[in-house]
Amino acid sequence: MAKIPINIQSGEIQKNSETIIGIDLGTTNSLVAHIVDGQPVAVKGKDGKSTLVPSIVHFTEDGRILVGEAAREKLISDPQNTIYSVKRLMGKSYGDVNEFEQYFGYKIIDEDTDSLVKIRVGNRFYTPIELSAEILKELKRRIEKELDATVSKAVITVPAYFNDAQRQATRDAGKLAGLDVLRIVNEPTAASLSYGLNKDQSESQTIAVYDLGGGTFDISILQIQDGIFEVLATNGDTFLGGDDLDRAIVDHWTKTTENAKTFSQSLRLLAEEAKKTLSSKDHFSKDLDGQNYSLSRQDFEQLIKPLLDKTLEACKNALQDAKLESAQIDHIVMVGGSTRVPLVKKSVADFFGKAVYDKLNPDEVVALGAGIQADVLAGNQKDILLLDVTPLSLGIETVGGLMDVIISRNSKVPSKAGRQYTTSVDGQANLKVGVYQGERDLVEHNRKLGEFILRGIPPMPAGLPKIEIQFILNADGILLVKAKELRSNVEQEIEIRSQYGLSEEDMGRMLLESIQNAEGDMKIRALLEARNEAQNILLSSEKFLKQNESIISEEEMTQTKALVEALQKSVAGEDKDAINKAMDDLNTYTSPLAHRAMDFNIAEAMKGKKI
Ligand code: AMP
Repeated sequence: MAKIPINIQSGEIQKNSETIIGIDLGTTNSLVAHIVDGQPVAVKGKDGKSTLVPSIVHFTEDGRILVGEAAREKLISDPQNTIYSVKRLMGKSYGDVNEFEQYFGYKIIDEDTDSLVKIRVGNRFYTPIELSAEILKELKRRIEKELDATVSKAVITVPAYFNDAQRQATRDAGKLAGLDVLRIVNEPTAASLSYGLNKDQSESQTIAVYDLGGGTFDISILQIQDGIFEVLATNGDTFLGGDDLDRAIVDHWTKTTENAKTFSQSLRLLAEEAKKTLSSKDHFSKDLDGQNYSLSRQDFEQLIKPLLDKTLEACKNALQDAKLESAQIDHIVMVGGSTRVPLVKKSVADFFGKAVYDKLNPDEVVALGAGIQADVLAGNQKDILLLDVTPLSLGIETVGGLMDVIISRNSKVPSKAGRQYTTSVDGQANLKVGVYQGERDLVEHNRKLGEFILRGIPPMPAGLPKIEIQFILNADGILLVKAKELRSNVEQEIEIRSQYGLSEEDMGRMLLESIQNAEGDMKIRALLEARNEAQNILLSSEKFLKQNESIISEEEMTQTKALVEALQKSVAGEDKDAINKAMDDLNTYTSPLAHRAMDFNIAEAMKGKKI
């Protein structure tokens, strides 16, 4: 049955409210994209020309907020009230950014070096989250105008190297802008999606995404396997981009041109114009304040060569970290306006020994990919798999404090897995389910996500209840844990947000610790497992002796008790081999007794019955 959404107040039929939008929230420019007739399209602004919204926020004297082009116009006339590059401050403390504070034309507040930075505008303070939210609101307005409908769900991209705090800050900015952020996607992943590189699902492929924007350079090495993207390595320079190419031209002109202006905003703009012109022409020449400024493509290429060499050095380092040779890269994707420079394309193609992907608008590829991801989440592209994996294993605590993994690290999301457990004590009515994240064998070394108690298990001997624990990890990174006793249908569940609770540093540390401690952990696990097994044997031996007193001789009883005592003693110790040996001894001795008891019980049961 189809549902028709009606606005209760106006009585109007609402347009499809399920459009999910893709947003590239960039350092210099931001864009919003959506799907039109199955294809991703970036939305243009009021002028119908540019899809780029400068990531700039200006506060007017009378308290209005301008975003985008209008804000950029205030950059020179009112720098104190015009905030740019706020992405560089997302999720950062003052301690993180004070070295490059002079780079900003506005005031960053040092309140407490550990807490997140704030920006002072007049007598008010803004967090980078609030400022980013203003940019997102502008993008939301743009697309709502285009669609003539409200939009409430989005996918937002972030650099692959963003840590958890930065990702969380981006999510929060979305929330503040009235957007439900369904997914945070890595920019290089989005760029690869827009070239459809995920569609070839035959085998694993490696991709290098070379992203040279206005002020930053990133190189990411990705691997796609079965539609899942994994970031193998990232490298780059957070202060290297198109602006530096412009500066190289300005420096050249001030040195070589007679009567050249010293650095000025107008000369910088002329340099940018020269750079852009030289992307399609061989020569640039223009007058400014009665002075001619000219540059050939050849000279320009000489000027920028050292900067490009720096980016190639970063590519080399990224390959090294990914343990790959340049020839092993299957595809190279170009992102960012500065990759329009022919020498950039040529240098990168030569470095990897392959043609680069450059057919799409390099300013838009990330947003277009975000739009595709949004469409996948909206359920419109059934042939594309969801792309995230869980970074750490998820599991529960079992007897002895052991971690029992239910969904392992790098599993696809969404994902669902379950396992059966039982009780360890007769008549046990409650079972505590502690949920953990991490790779270590003992839960105490992992991160606790939550716990709950399954209550009201009907009285049963130990080992008889069948308790099924199910983990359901949905596409938003929310984990639902369900516990159900299958004989009585008693059940309980909790919801845990797992994915964004850890910083990437924490994650890296936890993985490293699990490797460094693997041997020690294995020993402890073996000891604890031996102890658990021994406890079960002790329990059943005690029961057996009580129930079968009549058919066991006194000598057998004494001998069994002695072996039980030996096992108890070894369980108190630390030697797993001793425990295993004591268990073996007891088992070997009691197994003929158990057979005898079984025969006897069967005979008793058959008495007086005819077959
Ligand atoms: P982005 O941050 O990706 O928007 O990149 C913007 C950068 O790309 C700025 O430095 C622009 O000057 C540069 N850019 C834009 N168009 C061109 C072009 N045709 N040739 C060279 N650089 C360009």
